Amino acid sequence: MNSFAFQNPTKIIFGQGTVRQLGKEAAAYGNKALLVYGGGSIKKTGLYDQVLSQLKEHGIEAFELAGIEPNPRLSTVHKGIDICRKNGIGFVLAVGGGSVLDASKAIALGVPYEGDVWDFYEHKATAKDALPLGTVLTLSATGSEMNSASVITNWEQNRKLGYLSVHAFPRFSILDPTLTYTVPKDQTAYGAVDMMTHVFEQYFNHTPDTPLQERLCESILKTIVENAKLAQEKPDDYAARANLMLCGTYALNGGMISVGMDQDWASHDIEHELSAIYDIAHGAGLSIVYPNWMKYVYRERIERFVQFAVRVWDIDPSGKSDEDVALEGIQATRDFFRSLGAPSTLAEVGIGEDRIEEMAAKAVGFGPLGHFKKLEQADVAAIYRLSL
Ligand code: NAP
Ligand code: FE
Repeated sequence: MNSFAFQNPTKIIFGQGTVRQLGKEAAAYGNKALLVYGGGSIKKTGLYDQVLSQLKEHGIEAFELAGIEPNPRLSTVHKGIDICRKNGIGFVLAVGGGSVLDASKAIALGVPYEGDVWDFYEHKATAKDALPLGTVLTLSATGSEMNSASVITNWEQNRKLGYLSVHAFPRFSILDPTLTYTVPKDQTAYGAVDMMTHVFEQYFNHTPDTPLQERLCESILKTIVENAKLAQEKPDDYAARANLMLCGTYALNGGMISVGMDQDWASHDIEHELSAIYDIAHGAGLSIVYPNWMKYVYRERIERFVQFAVRVWDIDPSGKSDEDVALEGIQATRDFFRSLGAPSTLAEVGIGEDRIEEMAAKAVGFGPLGHFKKLEQADVAAIYRLSL
């Protein structure tokens, strides 16, 4: 196990009806809030009205930034920064899925910074401060509700880049599983895939002597597998939605499940290039890329893939070679994603081979990807080709 420091300052308020605590929590951060939301799902569900009445009850004036795109764009983040600066707003409130939360983090980081917030994502500057941020989560997937990451798309440059800042941890996040009842089947699938791959990015490593972290990862994976289909079949199954929500939060909250372990993240970078050009859903891209990354790298530490197959997918290893067991585990992963309705090939989402070299070159723009196996441009291109 590696040495580590771990700190996560986000307060999680979990359970049915917890939106009623929003006003009290938000009031700690002044009397002006920028309410950030997406394309309108919160208006259809009635959450928008609940949020506004909470703010009003606690004397908080609400300014609004609506229309955050899935794969949130830098141009929209700029609009939010302008609204905050012009109106002296001191608090950002994100109500939505990972895209809304990520855009809100970028706004919060951008307001006190004199340059362009994109500098952070291009590794040209480091954030020294941010406005405080609170969130009400409506989609279980990214873990953004309890982590310091945000991923923003510069559409003009077809670049999608992530940035981690200790200042971007939400001060509080309200997690009410009933707010996810209206998440459609496809987004439920993409969310499950995203959270599973977050665990994979931490679980497939070369660090020795980490049995607790490995079992934490495996238990989250098994819990997602047990609950994703239930949530699709019965969208208002509270237990399934609650378990998925907690899995999403634990899967990526600053590394709690993977303290002392190396992490990979190559597949996320490979996926971001797809979203940056083709604007596909992040979880759909990962469903295609991740099993192919597995196939490309599993021989680097076959024992971990055997353990994965046996412990997560209950594959019986008796009488089989390690190679066969590892490949069965990879196939089971692909089959599970497919059973949720998530895609397995680029062809299914209308992507061909014409821009593979361009994406592979951009993916390694800051250097080779990953840790489990270092991937150069040719490796990344090979994984895109396996995904066709
Ligand atoms: P999302 O892009 O936030 O939302 C996807 C769609 O689901 C939107 O159309 C949204 O509609 C809808 N939706 C959200 N909540 C709903 C509800 N309760 N009922 C009905 N529809 C609902 O999806 P996401 O997967 O959470 O976020 C994806 C983004 O996060 C990607 O850009 C990805 O790269 C990033 N990401 C971030 C992290 C991180 O650590 N920060 C990790 C992984 C991925 P509305 O717009 O109308 O609300
Ligand atoms: Fe992700």
